[in-house]
Amino acid sequence: MKALVKTEAGPGLKLQDVKEPEVGHNDVLIKIHKTAICGTDIHIWKWDEWAAKTIPVGMHVGHEYVGEIVAMGQEVRGFNIGDRVSGEGHITCGYCRNCRAGRRHLCRNTFGVGVNRPGAFAELLSIPAFNAFKIPDNIRDDLASIFDPFGNATHTALAFNLVGEDVLITGAGPIGIMAAAIARHVGARFVVVTDVNDYRLELAKKMGAHRAVNVTREKLKDVMTELGMVEGFDVGLEMSGVPTAFTTMLEHMNHGGKVALLGIPPANTAIDWNQVIFKGLEIKGIYGREMFETWYKMVAMLQSGLNLDPILTHHFPVKDYVEGFETMLSGKSGKVILNWA
Ligand code: NAD
Ligand code: ZN
Repeated sequence: MKALVKTEAGPGLKLQDVKEPEVGHNDVLIKIHKTAICGTDIHIWKWDEWAAKTIPVGMHVGHEYVGEIVAMGQEVRGFNIGDRVSGEGHITCGYCRNCRAGRRHLCRNTFGVGVNRPGAFAELLSIPAFNAFKIPDNIRDDLASIFDPFGNATHTALAFNLVGEDVLITGAGPIGIMAAAIARHVGARFVVVTDVNDYRLELAKKMGAHRAVNVTREKLKDVMTELGMVEGFDVGLEMSGVPTAFTTMLEHMNHGGKVALLGIPPANTAIDWNQVIFKGLEIKGIYGREMFETWYKMVAMLQSGLNLDPILTHHFPVKDYVEGFETMLSGKSGKVILNWA
C-alpha cells in the first residue's frame, strides 16, 4: 500500500509502498478516506529536534483521519465492516491506575499513532478497536477527518464553564480558532483571540470570535476597554505555546480566573507567579482528548449547529502532498485535507 514515509533523517516525507499493517485480535483495519495535516506533522516534516529524537526513520506518520472499517480481529465487538470511523490517536495501556479509573487521557504509558507507531497517512491503518470512533451519517468526511485537533479544542474549551464568561484565547492556529467557535457556541459573552498572523485572525473572526487581536499592533487592554470589560477575562485558553502570549494572558485575567493550557511552551518557561497567587487563578494542563467524552461532545456540538466549515481551507489529492505541506507551512491556511480515496 501507499504511505507517506519518513525515508531519511531529514526534512520531508515520501509517498512510497510499504507493507500492509497486521490486524490483531482486538484491532480494526481502516481504509483511509481523508487525512488532515497537524502541527505535529509539520514538526516531523521539518525534522526539528523533537522529531529527530521521537520519530523512527522508515515509519509512516499521520494521525488525523477518517475512513471505513474493512477488516477486524475476532475479539472485536460493537463494530461492523463498512462502519465509517475516525480514531483516538492516543493508545493507552489499560492497566495503569488512571486507565483503570476510566481516565484514559491521563495514562502514563500512552503511545501515539503516527508518532510512536505507524500512522494514518496510508491507504490502511490498523488500531485497537477501543480507539475507533463511529461517525454518524450526518457528519461528512471532511469534518470527521479533523476530530483529533477538534478534540483538543473541545477538551480545552470545555475544561471550564464558559456560559456568560469573557474568554481569551491566545493563538489562532487551527485549534485556537476551533476553540473560539466552541466558546461562542456554548454561550460565552465575549470571545477574544490573539495572534500575530492576520490570515488566521481573519479566520478566527469568521469562526465566531467577537474580536481578533494582532498583538504586534494592538494592546489587549485597549480591546477590553472597547468591549466595556472592566475587570479582566474569566477564562483563558492558551493555544499558542508562546511564552509571551501566556504572560500577557495572566496579566489580563480577572481575579479568580481559570486558565487551561494546551499550547506547549519551551521547557523551563518562566512566569510571574504573583499573577497566579494574588489573583487566585486556577490553572489546568490539557493533554489530548478525554476518552471518549470529548468525542461524544464533538458530535453533539456539530449536530446542534456548531459550524466548523471555514477552518477547512485547503483540499489536495494525496499525490500533491508536497503542496499540501507547503500550504500548511506558509501559515496561510486553516486545516489542509489530503484525499486518499
Ligand atoms: P499552531 O502552531 O498552528 O498555532 C499557534 C499559533 O500561535 C500560530 O497561529 C501563531 O502565529 C500564534 N502565535 C505566535 N506568537 C503569538 C503570540 N505572541 N500571541 C498569540 N499567538 C501567537 O498550533 P496548533 O496546531 O493550533 O496547536 C496549538 C498549540 O497546541 C501548539 O503549541 C501545539 O503544540 C499544542 N498542542 C498541544 C496538544 C496537547 O495535547 N496538549 C495537542 C495538540 C497541539
Ligand atoms: Zn494507562
